[in-house]
Amino acid sequence: TFRALRMVKDDAGIRPEFQQLTLSDLGEGDTLVRVQCSSLNYKDGLAVMGRPGVLRRYPIIPGIDLAGEVVSSDSTEYRPGDGVILTGWGSGEKVDGGYSEFARVPAASLVPLPPGTDAVWAMSVGTAGFTAMLAVMALEEGGVSPSGGEVLVTGAAGGVGSTAVRLLAKAGFSVTASTGRPEESDYLRGLGASEVIGRGDLTPNRPLEKERWAGVVDTVGGQTLAAAVAATRTHGVVAACGNAGGAELHTTVFPFILRGITLAGIDSNTCPVPRRRAAWDRLARDLPASVLAGVTQRRPLSDVPALAAQILAGQVRGRTVIDVARD
Ligand code: NAP
Repeated sequence: TFRALRMVKDDAGIRPEFQQLTLSDLGEGDTLVRVQCSSLNYKDGLAVMGRPGVLRRYPIIPGIDLAGEVVSSDSTEYRPGDGVILTGWGSGEKVDGGYSEFARVPAASLVPLPPGTDAVWAMSVGTAGFTAMLAVMALEEGGVSPSGGEVLVTGAAGGVGSTAVRLLAKAGFSVTASTGRPEESDYLRGLGASEVIGRGDLTPNRPLEKERWAGVVDTVGGQTLAAAVAATRTHGVVAACGNAGGAELHTTVFPFILRGITLAGIDSNTCPVPRRRAAWDRLARDLPASVLAGVTQRRPLSDVPALAAQILAGQVRGRTVIDVARD
């Protein structure tokens, strides 16, 4: 048997339970992975706290990310011992995820661990860092370059935000970080932010504000995204990644038809494999383990229920790696 954290639903409600499982309890897939680490994302917080909208069936093992070693595979692509990463594809939402010592998954959902990296590195990146990479790629593909002026990252002290700040600074951008936690200013400057502003500084007043941002990575949504759109410079790109502050978007067409701005949607879950590989290879180059160590905490699987409450309360800084095999 092996240990997993499972979400169960019965007359008493929805709750996390640590269970001993056998391989026959796992779902379908051509590849068996021994999970070394998972991670904690905002969505994992929602799932483990039993909030509606994430989990599609019960019982289910949450954890949208995992990294580990292939035990056996019927695919030609992976061999026993290969290091692999899985993020998204409904893992920990529709199908069993990473909060388990073993996972059975389709080989087509995996990417190889980039050379020179390990499972802890991959999970300190996780869905959050991978999403940040996709957002930065969207800005660059939309023509945003360091010479175009400052870029904005919202929800900057969170997992996606922290990584976006780091990646953009590394690529040479002048980064303004927006946070509701002014006490995290030094942390954000340490990641490469050249300016730190408060949440309150991003409130939409008019459909078109003074042009300020060449590009935006937004993890907050709601009013923050509306304010970012209104102040984006001509032909700028806003990458919409999250809804930590609200799911609504009240805006007008004017930023689009008078400034030609682009609102780029980021969905890490369904990102096609070739783009995944490109993103992970660049993450391996631009975000080495030495850099990530400073923004990452490592915690055992048994801490996940408590951590879930903390991430929803906005109290988790940067990234959290879950050591699945450690007590
Ligand atoms: P996280 O670590 O909790 O970061 C979220 C950050 O948003 C917080 O640290 C906080 O930043 C800010 N925030 C929280 N509540 C807020 C509020 N009420 N108003 C304004 N700002 C608030 O979570 P994460 O894992 O980075 O995820 C961030 C968002 O991206 C979530 O909405 C998540 O669902 C989404 N996401 C989307 C994808 C995708 O594929 N599109 C992938 C991963 C995550 P400050 O303390 O700095 O203000």
